[in-house]
Amino acid sequence: MSDYVIPSPLRPSLPIKGTSGRFPVRRIYCIGRNYADHAIEMGHDPEKESPFFFQKNAENIDSSGEFPYPPETNDVHFEVEMIVALKSGGTNLELDEAMQLVFGYGVGLDMTRRDLQGEMKKLGRPWEIGKAFERSAPMGPLVPIDETGQLESGAISLSVDGAVRQNGDLNQMIWKVPEQIAYLSRFYDIAAGDLIMSGTPAGVGPIQKGEIMECCVAGLDPFVVKVV
Ligand code: MN
Repeated sequence: MSDYVIPSPLRPSLPIKGTSGRFPVRRIYCIGRNYADHAIEMGHDPEKESPFFFQKNAENIDSSGEFPYPPETNDVHFEVEMIVALKSGGTNLELDEAMQLVFGYGVGLDMTRRDLQGEMKKLGRPWEIGKAFERSAPMGPLVPIDETGQLESGAISLSVDGAVRQNGDLNQMIWKVPEQIAYLSRFYDIAAGDLIMSGTPAGVGPIQKGEIMECCVAGLDPFVVKVV
């Protein structure tokens, strides 16, 4: 029963590994250029920048293992990222409080219409059209931090049809996860249900229909996505 005048949209959610429980998703914050070698490949100097974030929509997540090639683009790129899921929130958090907010981790993809993002950058316009489109955030099941421990180092990689394309280490993040949480909390009321996409290592590149992306973060199960 409610006063809504149209059917209420469903809350997007992610599966939890090994249970029937679901994690309800509120917001998705994505950090840009958070691995030095990726910042360099995108034409930037990793030393000079403060962190910056953009958002995807909660409705953009998809755990089906299929990524439909999106419209209005000829250059869709993969970016493998570790997902950090928050079970609580706050504002103006101190660094040493930040990890208390973490529910767990996942493996995901920040799929990007690179051609549209590039046009928007050139024009000084917002990036949403390149980043926050339908099913642009494929994500595997979350795993509670009690089971994984804190993930601070270990391989993060992506292969396409078995060939390794991205290969980095979580310890190469310029802004570490607690720093990302504390920084976000200065600008936003972060809250339970928020996800952080923690950045991608070098090697981003285009995918084509029919290709299979295998996304790996040490300590989590591989997440496999087919481009359809
Ligand atoms: Mn990204």
